[in-house]
Amino acid sequence: MNRPRRPSLALVGTGGTIAGAGTAPEGGMSAAYQSAVVGADALVAGVPALARLAELRAEQLLQIDSADFTDALLLRLARRVAELCARDDVDGVVITHGTDTMEESAYFLHLTVRSSKPIVLTGAMRPATALAADGPANLLHAVAVAAHPSSAGRGVLVVMNEEIHSARDVAKVHAARLDAFASPHGPLGLVAEGAPRWYRALTRPHTTASDFDIAALDALPLVGVVTSHGNMRAEIHDAWVAQGARAIVHAGFGGGTVPDYLKARLAALRARGVLLVRASRTGAGALVRNANADDDAHGWVVTDDQNPPRARLLAALALTRTQDAQAIQRLFNSY
Ligand code: ASP
Repeated sequence: MNRPRRPSLALVGTGGTIAGAGTAPEGGMSAAYQSAVVGADALVAGVPALARLAELRAEQLLQIDSADFTDALLLRLARRVAELCARDDVDGVVITHGTDTMEESAYFLHLTVRSSKPIVLTGAMRPATALAADGPANLLHAVAVAAHPSSAGRGVLVVMNEEIHSARDVAKVHAARLDAFASPHGPLGLVAEGAPRWYRALTRPHTTASDFDIAALDALPLVGVVTSHGNMRAEIHDAWVAQGARAIVHAGFGGGTVPDYLKARLAALRARGVLLVRASRTGAGALVRNANADDDAHGWVVTDDQNPPRARLLAALALTRTQDAQAIQRLFNSY
């Protein structure tokens, strides 16, 4: 009897703790390890059960700690994933990635790769040499999700700790725990008995329905994030302007509140051609225009519920399409 064809998946290695190895002799008891040292082929070879789920072709695009991702590397990753997705002999893509900036890479791919094929990112909170390493199971689950036909058309997914999150919502919310990833509206689904089980679907545009096209871009417009705390200085915003920032995401308190003592200086940014995007340093919750600041008067934009790192990417992509603050506000409202 012919066995059904296994899906053919590309596995793109970029580094991170999933490709990390312990450096201390006590191994599993120590938090000391070096990330990004184990090759993508070795990650696949370390989980023999993967072969039952899919035919995997591994490539090493990068071998870095995800803290070292820059916009240039994001563009390179998105171009490579788009190329892979365009191939008839690729049914989906799994990306192994450091967890620290996984949410940013996932969201960037979600907005820029024009494909409905499954694109799944995964990583690990513990290196492969730890006593209870989470990387092998995360990789197995990511491949199970990418190989499953029901995963197509859902946008870019992050699979960690048996949960399937949308790239639109997910964030790393803990520095150490295995359940470090969470979405404010909950995960889209779970991995159960080796297959995805879906509980909700995303309503916002992504991938094939996205407005953003990076094909002709050499670089992203520079956007900086300034996080609020007591006793701030407007010179930090000014420093971003001096660097050539076209927009600044102001990660304000609570509902995106800007302290009174900064308002005049930040209001002057618009006259200098710099867009201010109000976000919340809490990382979740819908912001309301003109509620905590006079956005109409200042020409400011507010995020919907995007956390500051994602608001930075959305602002950069929005600026590739328009400079108009109202049009950018509409993009923030819809994505
Ligand atoms: N520093 C690592 C990285 O993001 C952390 C991890 O992968 O969990 O590359």
